[in-house]
Amino acid sequence: MTSNPAELGGVITSGTGGVWRVLGDDRNEYEAVLRGKLKTAPAMKLAVGDRVRLERDTRERGWAIVEILPRTSCLARRAPAGGGERIIAANIDQVIVMFAAAKPEPHPRMLDRFLVIAEANDIASRIIINKIELVGGGEVRDRFADYEKAGYPVHFVSVKQRVGLEAVDSALSGRTSVISGPSGVGKSSLLNALFPGLGLRVSEISESVNKGRHTTVGAFLHPLPGNDGGAVVDTPGLREIGLWEFPIAKLDECFPELRGPSEACRFTDCAHVSEPGCSVRGAVDTGDVSRARYESYLKLRREIEEQAND
Ligand code: GDP
Ligand code: ZN
Repeated sequence: MTSNPAELGGVITSGTGGVWRVLGDDRNEYEAVLRGKLKTAPAMKLAVGDRVRLERDTRERGWAIVEILPRTSCLARRAPAGGGERIIAANIDQVIVMFAAAKPEPHPRMLDRFLVIAEANDIASRIIINKIELVGGGEVRDRFADYEKAGYPVHFVSVKQRVGLEAVDSALSGRTSVISGPSGVGKSSLLNALFPGLGLRVSEISESVNKGRHTTVGAFLHPLPGNDGGAVVDTPGLREIGLWEFPIAKLDECFPELRGPSEACRFTDCAHVSEPGCSVRGAVDTGDVSRARYESYLKLRREIEEQAND
């Protein structure tokens, strides 16, 4: 590659329209604007994580994004009031949902909601429980046993005591991960502990969004040090993501442990509430499916139904 290329590939690291920041394949940072006539068809809305092709453009006095490459995945939310789909980030390999064992108290229903959003987008997730030194190790493992049983990898860590960080480090390596979770759980502490010098400011970003700025879904992609291609994307939070217009028939699939039982229900459109021959309720009664997760499922289901009736 020449030192002054006229075209190169890269990945979008930030931007909300107008000027986009691009990490070039040569590891340099570029600013670029979207060329009006994209070579991509059909036209896609650009998002953080998108792989693009840049061309030097003398008329536009800089770089132009001339092509958006096909996405391997897409983390999207539905905007309320018919706003359509909003892309939060593209080409995401995994969603990492982080909670604290205490301070703040974990909120399992919120955790379930994050997992459903990832499942609905066909993106793998893993869970990190931080601050385990504040509670007994055995107790915290019991509290999250439902998730391990459902197949989610769960990491129990203490950033403060540097416990369990190696496993998180290798889980992040070589992948593009979205880090989400409520504020105060230690997301920026974790990333700064693993990657000193990355200068992540997760809390600041969420603060600025709370001020109601226009940049509602400003995600930032931070390439990780090293050459394995790993990156973390922090976003103002999946918390604001609603399940608007979520196809209710898809909800069963978003709870991995319900997939098997729900296929065995007598009625194919079983809502698993009070229908006869419901295998999901059967599995809850025998303890094969966690009651807490089942109740979470019912709650999300009601929520989606209510929104559909609005
Ligand atoms: P974020 O909002 O998720 O990015 O959370 P921060 O990284 O800003 O951390 C919130 C607070 O939790 C800070 O006061 C950290 O010092 C503290 N914290 C982070 N990790 C741990 C931990 O393992 N144990 C304890 N007790 N506190 C932690
Ligand atoms: Zn059923």
